Amino acid sequence: MNVPAAPPDPLQTDIVLRSPAGVRLPPVETVWFTAGDGFRLNFRRLRPVDGVPPRGPVMMVHGAGVRANLFCPPGIVTLPAMLSAAGFDVWMVNWRASIDLEPSEYTLDDAAVFDFPAAVSTIREITEHDTVKAVVHCQGSHAFTMSIASGLLPEVTRVVANSTAMTPKVRRAAAIKLPLAMATLGRLTNFFDPQFGLYPPSFAAKVMDFMVDVTHHECRNKVCKHSSFVYGVGFPTLWSHRNLDAGTHDWISGEFAHVPVSLFRQTLDCLVAKHLVPARDYREIPELLGIEAPRTTAKFTFITGADNRTFLPEAMRASHAFFNSHVPAGSPRHGFKEFEGYGHLDMFLGKHASVEVFPHIVEWLSEDP
Ligand SMILES: [Zn+2]
Repeated sequence: MNVPAAPPDPLQTDIVLRSPAGVRLPPVETVWFTAGDGFRLNFRRLRPVDGVPPRGPVMMVHGAGVRANLFCPPGIVTLPAMLSAAGFDVWMVNWRASIDLEPSEYTLDDAAVFDFPAAVSTIREITEHDTVKAVVHCQGSHAFTMSIASGLLPEVTRVVANSTAMTPKVRRAAAIKLPLAMATLGRLTNFFDPQFGLYPPSFAAKVMDFMVDVTHHECRNKVCKHSSFVYGVGFPTLWSHRNLDAGTHDWISGEFAHVPVSLFRQTLDCLVAKHLVPARDYREIPELLGIEAPRTTAKFTFITGADNRTFLPEAMRASHAFFNSHVPAGSPRHGFKEFEGYGHLDMFLGKHASVEVFPHIVEWLSEDP
C-alpha cells in the first residue's frame, strides 16, 4: 500500500492563540481517547477563560487531510479563542481524518460510528456536563451529520455546520473532475496529499505535482495550490487570497497532508445520490439516511460562504430545507446564514472572520443553556 510519510509538522505542535483584547487565555491541553474500534484519537482542549460564566463544552470537528490546529491560524483572533472568552470549554477533536494521526483508509461511516460517539462520551465524562454542542466543517461535517442523523449523538443539542452537511453538491467542473481523478490518479495511489507539492515521494505524486504546476499560477505556495487541485476546481479553491493575511497563507503549508482516496470515492457516491450515503455495512447507520427524518433533536445552523468554490451554497440551503422539513409543527426551526465575500475555509481563517463570522457562531451556540 502506498502510505504517505508522516506530515512535516509533527504531533503535539504547541498551539499559541492570539487572545481577544483584555483576555488571558488558558494553555491548550491534549486529551487522548479511544474510538469504538480501538483507533487512538485526541482532543486539543481550550478551557473557558477564568471568571467568565461557564457555557459548557463545544466540540470542534475539522475537515479531511487537516487537523485540530486548522482552527488556530497564528495571526487572527480565532474561533476557539472567542469561544473560550465567551465561557465555552472548547474540545477540538483530532478524529481519524487528522494528519496528526496514523494514516488510514477511512470512510465517513467509520468516524460516524466509532469516532464521534466516543468523543462526545469522553467530553461528557471529563466535564460532567450532560450535553455537548458542536462546530463541524467540511468532511467533518459530513461524518458528524451521518452520525447525528443516525441517532448516535443524542446528547448533542446545538450544531453549527459549515460549508456542507447532508446534501453535498459541487461545481460542474469539479463534478466532472472527480470521477476522472478516481479513474486515473485514484488507481495509482491510495492517498492524495498537498505535501506532494513539497515532497513528491512517488510517480503518482510527481504526476500530480506536474499537473498542478501547469494549471495553477495564482500564488507561489505549493501546498496552497495542491490543496486547490485536490479539493475541487478553483484558483484558489478553499479560500480567497484577499481574505488571508500573509502569515496565514504561509502557515497553511504545514496544515494540509494525506487524505485517502477511499474518502473521495464515497464523496463521489454522495454527489451522485445527492445526499450522504454509507460506504460500509454498519447496522448503526439507517438504510434511509438522507431520506428519513434525522434521528436527532439538535438545532442546527447551516452556514457557508457565498463564494464557496468547494461545496455550493445552494447545497447548504438544501441541507437546511431537509432538516426543516422534518421539524415538528410548532418547534423551533433550524438556521441558515450565507456570508458575502467568504468561501469554504476562510470562514475560519479569514483575517476579518473574528468580526464578520465568529460572532454569529458564538451567538448561535449561546442561545440555549
Ligand atoms: Zn495561495
